[in-house]
Amino acid sequence: MRKKIAAGNWKMNKTFGEAVELAKGIVEQNIPSDVTVVLGVPSLYLNKINGIAEANDNVFVSAQNAHQELSGAYTGETSVVMLQSIGIPYVILGHSERREYNCETPELLKHKVRTALDNGMEVIFCCGESLDIRKADNQEEYVRNQIKGSLEGLSKEDMKKVVIAYEPIWAIGTGETASPQQAQDMHRSIREYLADMFDAEVAENTAILYGGSVKPSNAEEIFGQIDVDGGLVGGASMKVDSFTEIINSFS
Ligand code: PEP
Repeated sequence: MRKKIAAGNWKMNKTFGEAVELAKGIVEQNIPSDVTVVLGVPSLYLNKINGIAEANDNVFVSAQNAHQELSGAYTGETSVVMLQSIGIPYVILGHSERREYNCETPELLKHKVRTALDNGMEVIFCCGESLDIRKADNQEEYVRNQIKGSLEGLSKEDMKKVVIAYEPIWAIGTGETASPQQAQDMHRSIREYLADMFDAEVAENTAILYGGSVKPSNAEEIFGQIDVDGGLVGGASMKVDSFTEIINSFS
């Protein structure tokens, strides 16, 4: 059985007090026992929010990025060793905003994924196409190449610690969502590709999340698609009420 995951990405939002209040509001919820909730928290607040998350067995904390090296002269960066030392289990890698604003290439992400896995972290690996690529109907090949570029060479054991988040860039923060069928088609394509790259077992067991303007009004239909195992949610994860509704949208 694949995990059902509702992951939030708070990006560069919230003051410390607001972040604490949001996390407390989420851990107080009665989360279905088969749903894993992951909070993608700004690095400055990770330690505090991780302490709050301990109050609910279904809630875990994720960094939004980590450096590819373990330590060294990289001013302003955070390493997976640091994340591990405060007990953070997850890291989001390859979000489209980091690919765009921080020039993160598939090769760099491959290095980051390897370092994170080697140091005991679980990785939420993001991929997804721009509107131009979707208009040219080239999205499946593009996303497969992103996956190949960063996940090729991982072992089947490594893949047990990898979650894939398909996030079409044209749907992130725009209010425009991929239709449930568009999400299903891409998730199926990714799963078929995992079967080619690894094997049927990896394809069957890897959780694939959809991200891009998921909200309470569309979560149930999107999560109801056979190859969609949950969501990576930006805007709607930053309010207790809307994220709670999303967490309860799995059938
Ligand atoms: C995201 O940040 O990964 C995201 C999907 O954002 P939003 O839900 O706001 O589109």
